[in-house]
Amino acid sequence: MNPPPIRERLSRSTPYAAEPPFSDLLAALNGWFASAARILPWRSDPTPYRVWISEIMLQQTVVATVIPYFRRFVARFPDVKSLADASVDEVLTFWSGLGYYSRARNLHKTARILADNGFPETRAGWEALPGVGPYTAGAVLSIAFDRPEAILDGNIERVWARFRCVPRGDRFKEHLWRLSRYAVETTLRCGLSPSVINQALMELGALVCRPSKPECHSCPFSPRCRACASGKQDDYPQRRTGNGVETIEETVYVYMLVDGRVYLPPPSESQRWRKGMRDFPTEEIPGWRPFVRYLGRSVTTHSVTRYKVIRTAEVYMMESPAVALRFADSFFGDLTGIPYSAACLKTFKNLFNFR
Ligand code: SF4
Repeated sequence: MNPPPIRERLSRSTPYAAEPPFSDLLAALNGWFASAARILPWRSDPTPYRVWISEIMLQQTVVATVIPYFRRFVARFPDVKSLADASVDEVLTFWSGLGYYSRARNLHKTARILADNGFPETRAGWEALPGVGPYTAGAVLSIAFDRPEAILDGNIERVWARFRCVPRGDRFKEHLWRLSRYAVETTLRCGLSPSVINQALMELGALVCRPSKPECHSCPFSPRCRACASGKQDDYPQRRTGNGVETIEETVYVYMLVDGRVYLPPPSESQRWRKGMRDFPTEEIPGWRPFVRYLGRSVTTHSVTRYKVIRTAEVYMMESPAVALRFADSFFGDLTGIPYSAACLKTFKNLFNFR
């Protein structure tokens, strides 16, 4: 037998009959957000363009990291036309260090579509765009257009999983999405703003219902939160079985000049990682061996999506001025103005030991 719908389970008379209705919790959440919301640059002027840029940047990246990138990005590309008119290399340069570079490439592709067709106002319209999934579509539509669209990010997942002690089974995500949709429907019925409530839910997960040590005493959901009532906050969301992280080892070759500049060739089409980024070569440059002196190696680790990349950099000093001169365009003393990956930056910083 199928379980009863969420709204029945949240409103029927059960041992929770003395609890306040869900609409009261949302009203309390609304009030909490008005006093606790952080001042974030994309919140000051939530146009569809700025919300979309911020949501793409915030995918798998924390707010504190995104803030300076967002400011620089919208200063250079203040609207969708300026982004569409830019080259992908320039967009990647402004994204350098933020990681997950397919986001920047998709952003650029999407900008060109939006510049021609305008911003969609339906979920289907947004989800048809490169790099836009159900979360981003719901976030842009609700935050920028105040449409009653549900969202579910990592922060909201944690809130719902604890709020109803949702077990991590096959239907885990489905259950959480239903809660998000129910929240949006109730928001509308109570005359609250979907834009505010969705942002408030995310903020609640980020500031109060944190992964460890949630502050239940200041949480507007505490009167009906099952995890809080049973003291099981640390048990939800339940852990995934197996961490799913794959370790990859790679070697890169660092060719350094006496003045500290290093060789970063232009990106090649065959690059598996970090497409379109400058990075150290993963193979020795044929014919350079007689002109270089081995200095040593440095090891860095870097996480990208579900991979842990252990990178060994073999460091050489280039001792032939003639070779250095021939490839002068690809030797760099710093990474300003070029698209580079976070792994490249880590290796680069590690080279100070050899300088
Ligand atoms: S009461 Fe505690 S566990 Fe429940 S949603 Fe609020 S912060 Fe999270």
